[in-house]
Amino acid sequence: MTQRIAQVAIDIPLARLFDYRTADAGPGDIGRRVIVPFGRGRAEGLQVGILVALVEMNACDAGAPETTLKPLHSIDRDLAPLPANLIELAHFAADYYQFPLGATLLGFLPPALRQLQFRVPPPLAYRLTEAGRRHSATLKSNARAQQALAVQLNGGAQTREALAPFHTLLSRWLKEGWVEACHPRAETAPSLTPPLTDEQATTLEALRQAPGFGVHLVHGITGSGKTEVYLQRSADLMAAGQQVLILVPEIHLTPQFTERILNRFPDRRIVLLHSLLADGERLAAWLACQRGEADIVLGTRLALFAPLTRLGLIVVAEEHDTSYKQGEGLRYSARDLAIWRARQANAQILLGSATPALETWHNGQRGRYQQHTLSARAIRGAALPEIRLVDTRTDRPRQGLTRTLTEAIEAGLKRGEQSLVFINRRGYAPALVCNACQHIVDCPRCTAHQVLHRGPQGDRLLCHYCGHEQAVPPICPDCGSHDLRAGGQGTQRVEEALAERFPEARILRVDRDSTRRKGAFAAMRDAIQRHEVDLIVGTQILAKGHDFPNLTQVGIIGADHALQAPDFRASERLFAQLMQVSGRAGRAEKSGTVWIQTQWPQHPLFVALRRHDYAGFAQHTLRERRESGLPPFMHLALLRAEATRMASAIAFLEAAKACLPSPDSVTLFDPVPALITRIAHHERAQLLVQSTRREALQAYLKHWMPLLKALPARGVRWSLDVDPSEF
Ligand SMILES: [Zn+2]
Ligand SMILES: [Zn+2]
Repeated sequence: MTQRIAQVAIDIPLARLFDYRTADAGPGDIGRRVIVPFGRGRAEGLQVGILVALVEMNACDAGAPETTLKPLHSIDRDLAPLPANLIELAHFAADYYQFPLGATLLGFLPPALRQLQFRVPPPLAYRLTEAGRRHSATLKSNARAQQALAVQLNGGAQTREALAPFHTLLSRWLKEGWVEACHPRAETAPSLTPPLTDEQATTLEALRQAPGFGVHLVHGITGSGKTEVYLQRSADLMAAGQQVLILVPEIHLTPQFTERILNRFPDRRIVLLHSLLADGERLAAWLACQRGEADIVLGTRLALFAPLTRLGLIVVAEEHDTSYKQGEGLRYSARDLAIWRARQANAQILLGSATPALETWHNGQRGRYQQHTLSARAIRGAALPEIRLVDTRTDRPRQGLTRTLTEAIEAGLKRGEQSLVFINRRGYAPALVCNACQHIVDCPRCTAHQVLHRGPQGDRLLCHYCGHEQAVPPICPDCGSHDLRAGGQGTQRVEEALAERFPEARILRVDRDSTRRKGAFAAMRDAIQRHEVDLIVGTQILAKGHDFPNLTQVGIIGADHALQAPDFRASERLFAQLMQVSGRAGRAEKSGTVWIQTQWPQHPLFVALRRHDYAGFAQHTLRERRESGLPPFMHLALLRAEATRMASAIAFLEAAKACLPSPDSVTLFDPVPALITRIAHHERAQLLVQSTRREALQAYLKHWMPLLKALPARGVRWSLDVDPSEF
């Protein structure tokens, strides 16, 4: 007699599947959500899992599990099973990032489906099916209610509210398959397809000539019309019955991009998928994908895990953006997994950016990715902004602003044009300094300075790492002096300085603090577009793709801090950020000017930036990376450990290093304290593993991980980050 065993993935930190007895599960149930008993004795409870495989076992075999295995509690057959391609993706991701399969796979589901019970939100609208149309044609004249329903549905998709009078009839028609759920039809006519520039046309043609899997780097400066290429290629593939997945870094910061896609394809089912959706909305969006109704899925990194079976195109917009890398749990790179998923689906993938990640650029240069260049702005006559460097050694800033920048802002105001002062530090000042002894007030919980914030209740000190907040001390905690001052500039202080200098100007500050309230960011963006403000002080929130037609000048403060950062990726990020924020200056008829305040005007990064020369910057930086043995010429993994005592964290990492000797192709460094040594009373340390060959690194990690899990780790929290983006 054989016994059928269900292998179930459960969201727990063990890298294996769990076996359950089952009598009624069949091959068609693989990928289904199941409920299983888990735990022992009084701790036993029910857990949500995914049925990943079925195996037959002979009950007469030695060690037959029949008596010891618990039975499956239930199989959720109301939902379609997860497509096999998604389960394969989970296997790959779990394996590559050394994360438990169960936690990986369950993490693909929307939060509502990870609960034991959930409620499917009703569809927003319904329409007739082909069968429904045939049925309507055969209705007898005395079937009054049915006639009325048919008449209404013949007018096109109807919202749930509009069909409320037919409540009972509607459920019957749904059951018969005469109506189906659909997206409420947009009222707008599709927006027009603009004429293409030569470069756009060439790129599009090249993409059409290379159907199927292929990685395409669309390298285009700000305003060169990358989006138009994405849209027309999407239209091609949807016309062929395929689905399109479009990933963006942060959806609430790019509303114009979203609107453009919605307006272009009003008759297509476009599903938004991101973490800002309420649980019910996210479930509804996910189910629309699962039922195959979505034509376009537009979302943040988590949208990569949408269940899609007709995927033909993936677009990764702003592919260099660091928010594609997840910082906890499954520490995946959505861009890298997107390439894997495209290959799996034999889909085309477009990586778009004005400043590609150096890894991506390197792959383009050596021909692994096909490279397309958009070097001209799509709007005729729109010139690139002129970039000028202001030497702060001779033009000393006051309150953060040099004379050159102040005069430029003044001239802009006289011309009736907007200026943006970009500074990537929020708060009033990054430090509170004692004038007597130069002591800087640190967070009591972290090895970081407290940031001075000015609020309605007066000044406060805030830690940007752990959130610790305290009042400003009346005297220096070190020497008792009363002479404390704000050191350096934050957005609030620059706003204050501008208000003093230009009392007539309307000034708006846009940073994480001022946009915390829901809808605040959109309101501010509209105010800038309607020219209700003259001067804007903003952080990187404003750097992403927004069109501000009257904004002609950008002043950049504090870029030198980023140049000095110890992270080897700091200059790559700074270049990307400065290119992006420069792109805000002068888009349409008005040409723009960018002023960068720096004490190193000869720095190669600024020299390349002045020429808008990403390729030159990339070549220079890649040469440096090659010489210092850094990515993309090296593959990295970082083992992090934290504990209340540094010695425990280091001891754990020492043991980790000792537990598996590395082959010659893999190097393990000595454990070191992390850059920010302490956060919220936790001491942090790390150990770097590297190899010039990805396969060698992967093979090592695969053997290492089980040994790490077996190490005693009392009081130590640790995690492994493959291809880390932060150090
Ligand atoms: Zn002091
Ligand atoms: Zn802190």
